[in-house]
Amino acid sequence: MGPIQIKQILSEASVGSEVVVKGWVRTKRESKNAIFIAINDGSTIHNIQAVAEPGQIAEDTLKLITTGSCLKVTGELVASQGSGQAVEVKLTDVHVYGTADPDEYPLQPKKHSLEFLREIAHLRPRTNTFSAILRLRHALAFAVHKYYNDNGFFYLHTPIITASDAEGAGEMFRVTTLDLDKLPRTEEGKIDFKEDFFGRETNLTVSGQLEGELGAMALSKIYTFGPTFRAENSNTTRHLAEFWMIEPEMAFFELEDNMNLAEDFVKYVIRYALENCADDLNFLQKRLEEEEKQKPQNERSMPLLEKLRFVVDNNFERVTYTEAIDILLKSKPHKEKKFQYNVEWGIDLQSEHERFLVEKHFKKPVILINYPRAIKAFYMKQNEPNPAEPGPTVRAMDVLFPGIGEIIGGSQREEDHDKLVARMHEVGIEPEAIWWYLETRKFGTAPHAGFGLGFERLILFVTGMGNIRDVIPFPRAPKSAEF
Ligand code: ATP
Ligand code: MN
Repeated sequence: MGPIQIKQILSEASVGSEVVVKGWVRTKRESKNAIFIAINDGSTIHNIQAVAEPGQIAEDTLKLITTGSCLKVTGELVASQGSGQAVEVKLTDVHVYGTADPDEYPLQPKKHSLEFLREIAHLRPRTNTFSAILRLRHALAFAVHKYYNDNGFFYLHTPIITASDAEGAGEMFRVTTLDLDKLPRTEEGKIDFKEDFFGRETNLTVSGQLEGELGAMALSKIYTFGPTFRAENSNTTRHLAEFWMIEPEMAFFELEDNMNLAEDFVKYVIRYALENCADDLNFLQKRLEEEEKQKPQNERSMPLLEKLRFVVDNNFERVTYTEAIDILLKSKPHKEKKFQYNVEWGIDLQSEHERFLVEKHFKKPVILINYPRAIKAFYMKQNEPNPAEPGPTVRAMDVLFPGIGEIIGGSQREEDHDKLVARMHEVGIEPEAIWWYLETRKFGTAPHAGFGLGFERLILFVTGMGNIRDVIPFPRAPKSAEF
């Protein structure tokens, strides 16, 4: 299983035993009495310190041991003389695997800005901040699979390349093998996609939902967890062109069950992080405190761990869209015309409205349901007319989080074939184009529901980071696909 990792050495190895450490040098410090080398292998936020006596390491080898170089150190694990670590390695032998010229290696031991680190995304996993984020990302992904597995869901692999944009969830990336310099044309002069690889227009998926529904209509409870692609030309701190989405889809679930699942699921994975990633979360909490030191007290955010525990320990507020509009209409920022966008029944809530509801009014996660039909997708289940509501609504639900805004979007699905087709005609979607989807409503239809959780938005929340480009190893955004 390969060499023992620093995480294990620090937690399991006994003082007096011989250990071999393989990792990258974070710092080297020489004093009169000793040479200290801090080594990290990414298995934990903690470094292990190797200590050598002056003159013990040959001068030409010592020169090669610089920040970023890669070493194999052999020695005895001893109780540390210094503070800051319980144990350290009394070096007996060192081998340099790879050097890192200090004149060129960009990650010198000082504070680097997140913007700068984005430009060196190939090296940033070697920083404390990014290694902590990547370990959390792993732990959360594992927790997602564990949660669904333990609750009787099956992991369904929905296609990455699709022919449908029925969902209309976002702008799509075209997939083609046509020669762009010599596009085949039809007689009318249009691009002839019959000549293309699949014999039709294809794109990268924006959501696995439609195929997910097919799975749920056979296996009852499925989830997808895969990459999705949206060519949204919005340069925000909440949008990526390539992001990972978790989409459970359940037969025999109504909106209420869907809300219960979403809340339970999100709390589970956050609790998992709290229980399994304490070191990394503590580090990120300190990082955030450090970053916000300049801000006045009342603008600083709640300490990270406190915020996560708060979400785990409290019920999400459940509110209808109509109630939310009422709250917004009565709100101070609306009355004082502080909102940039107008508030009235029927609008698609802007992030300033969502943030007011979550951060100012309820001060906790909110599940908004029963949105106007006109602003939601065709497949959402239509509600019976309600005299208290100015217009028709659908059984949609969005989960809104403090500091993030929308983290989950979902709904109960329209299971009635004719209502679904009528709605498709209204919004201009050709039923023929997704005949296979409609057949689930023709053959053994059933009430069902599901939602999509943006994985990176969840990681933003759990890590306390502010920009979605910093919670995925190699972000894809407009004009940015270097690594
Ligand atoms: P938004 O209004 O924030 O753009 P949306 O309404 O387009 O989101 P959905 O189509 O409902 O989002 O997608 C489900 C979830 O996927 C969202 O709740 C969000 O967590 C995530 N998501 C959507 N678009 C992106 C994106 N471009 N980058 C990262 N995550 C996204
Ligand atoms: Mn969007």
